[in-house]
Amino acid sequence: MPGEPRTRPWQGESGRGNSTREIWHRASVERLQSTTTDLLIIGGGITGAGIARDAAMRGLRTVLVEQHDLGYGTSSRSSRLIHGGIRYLEEGDIGLVFEALRERRVLLRIAPHLVRPLPFVFPVHDGDRVPLWKLRAGVWLYDLLAAFRNVGWHRFLGKRALRRAEPMVREQGLRGGVRYFDAQCDDARLVVATVRAAMQHGALVASYMVVEDLIRADGRIQGVRIRDRLSGTAGQIRAAVVVNATGPWCDRLRQLEDPGVAPLLRPTKGVHVMVRRDRLGNQAAITLTSPIDGRVMFVIPWGDFSYIGTTDTDDAEDPEQVRATQDDIHYLLRSANAAFPNAHLGEEDVLSSWAGLRPLIRPPERLGASQIPREHVIQRGAGGMLTIAGGKLTTFRAMAEELVDQVVEILHDLDGRPRPPRPPSDREPLPGGEAAAVEPLGTPGTELGLFGETVEHLLRTYGTESAAILNLVRERRELARPLIPGYPAIEAEVIHVARRELAQRVEDVLVRRIHPYYETRDHGVGSARRTAELLGEEHGWDTARIEEEATRYVEWCAREG
Ligand code: FAD
Repeated sequence: MPGEPRTRPWQGESGRGNSTREIWHRASVERLQSTTTDLLIIGGGITGAGIARDAAMRGLRTVLVEQHDLGYGTSSRSSRLIHGGIRYLEEGDIGLVFEALRERRVLLRIAPHLVRPLPFVFPVHDGDRVPLWKLRAGVWLYDLLAAFRNVGWHRFLGKRALRRAEPMVREQGLRGGVRYFDAQCDDARLVVATVRAAMQHGALVASYMVVEDLIRADGRIQGVRIRDRLSGTAGQIRAAVVVNATGPWCDRLRQLEDPGVAPLLRPTKGVHVMVRRDRLGNQAAITLTSPIDGRVMFVIPWGDFSYIGTTDTDDAEDPEQVRATQDDIHYLLRSANAAFPNAHLGEEDVLSSWAGLRPLIRPPERLGASQIPREHVIQRGAGGMLTIAGGKLTTFRAMAEELVDQVVEILHDLDGRPRPPRPPSDREPLPGGEAAAVEPLGTPGTELGLFGETVEHLLRTYGTESAAILNLVRERRELARPLIPGYPAIEAEVIHVARRELAQRVEDVLVRRIHPYYETRDHGVGSARRTAELLGEEHGWDTARIEEEATRYVEWCAREG
C-alpha cells in the first residue's frame, strides 16, 4: 500500500517479531482484517503455498486463505511423484519435461525428508502400445534432459534381468524393459512444509477461511470477503493484489470477478487405490501400459503398501464431490492384475482410494483427456485479479517465482516501490529439510524407548523437526503411546501438528498430516476420539466439542471411505 512501511511488524501480535508461537498460529478473522496486505492468495494447495513462500521470502506482506485444510484439494490426491513425466515425452513436451526435471533436483535438495528418489521398472510385452526401442530412446532422452544429474542412470533390462528384479511381473510375452529413476513425495506434507516456510518468513495463513466474494473499488479487485468456517465469523481483507490459486475451483472465483468470463479449465479426474504391497510383490515402482486402453499408469510402492493409478477421465463434477466410482476401481484393478497375474486383486483388497481433479487448461477442441497439456497459465482478469492454473506439483516453485515476478511489477506500478529480487527459493530448505542425512537424529528416539519403526516414521515424516516431537515425549512420556495399535505414529504427533502445522480437525491429522486414513483398514476411525482429545488440549475444546469432532471424522469416513 502506498506509504506503508514494508518491514513486517505484523508478524507478531504487536510488532514483536517472530516468536514461534505467534507465527505458527492460524490467523483469525480479526487479525486478517486489521492487516494491510500487499498480496492475498486464495487457495492453500501447493500452488498457493509456493506463491506465499516466494512472496514472503521477498518481503511482501502476504496472506493466504484456504477454505478447508491446507492441501485439501488436488494437492493431496496426486500420484505423489516429483517427476519430469516420462509419458509427456511421447507427446513431445520437451520443455515441460526439462523444467520439471530441474525442479525435481531442487526439491530433492530443499526437502530431502519429503522427496525421495524412486527407481522405476518399465516392462514391455508383445503388442504393447509403447515398443521397446521407443522406450529405450525415451529413457535416454529423459536422463539427457536431467542434464545427466539424475539420481541414478537408467539401465536396459533383458527379459531375465527384469524377471530377477520384479519376479511377479507377467512373464508371458515379456520382451524386456528399462529401469529409470524419478522421485516420490508426500504431497500433503509438501504443502504443509511450504506453507510453514511462508509463515516463517512472515506470511499470515488461515485455513478453514473461505472467500465468499471479492471487493471491488475503482474497477479493481482490492480485497475479499471471508468467513471463518470454524467460528462462523465473517470479515474482509484488503489487498493490493489478489491471486486466485484455487486449482479446480478457479473458474468459480473468476466468475465472481467477471460473471461472463469463459471457463479456463477442462478438469480431468484421476483415481488411485491403495493395496497391501505383498499382494503385488513389486520392489520398484512399475510403469505399465493398461491392457484396457493402452494408457501409461503406475504401481507405486509406499512402505508396506502400493498404490495403483491413475485414471484420466473428463470430469465436470463439483470439486467437493469428486469420488472414485466402482468403474474407476475396476479399471485400476484389472490393469494391475494384467501386469501381475498372480495378484488376483479384488475390491476387498482395496484399503483406500482417492480421487482428484487435475486443473488442466482448456485445450483446443478434440483432444483426449490424456492429451491435454499440463502447462500452467497466469491470467489477469477484468478486475486485475491474477489467476494461476494448471501445472504440476513438481513445478510449483517455478510457477510461484513467475507469478510473484508479476505481483512485484503490479506493486511497482501502483506505488513506485522498488522491486525486490527473486529469493533463493531453490536453495533454502523447507522446514524439516535442513539436513539430508537425518538418521543420526534417530538415536535420541531410540534412547527414549521408541520402536525403530516409529523412529523411522518420524524422520521420514518430519525430517529434522522430529526433534520437536521427541521433546514433547521427553516432557510427557505418555505421549510416546502409539496413536493406533500396530501403526508407527505416536500421540505426540497430534500435539505437534496442532501446534505447528495448523491441523484443526481430526481429518486434518489422520488424512493429511499422517496417513492412517489411507493405510489402515478402518481409516484410523478407532483413534478418532483420542485424536480429538489431543487436538482439544491444544485448541481448548470441551468434552462436547471433542465428541463432536470425533464423530465428524467417523461420519466423514463412512461417506468417503
Ligand atoms: P489444489 O490443490 O486443488 O488447491 C486449491 C485450493 O483452493 C483447495 O485446497 C481449495 O479448497 C481452495 N479453495 C477453493 N476455493 C476457495 C475459496 N473460495 N476460498 C478459499 N480457498 C478456496 N503433479 C505432479 O507433479 N506429480 C504427480 O504425481 C501428480 N499426480 C497427479 C495425479 C492426479 C490424480 C491429479 C488429479 C493431479 C496430479 N498432479 C501431479 C497434478 C498436481 O496434483 C496439481 O497440479 C496440483 O496439486 C494443483 O495444486 P493447486 O494448488 O493448484 O490446486
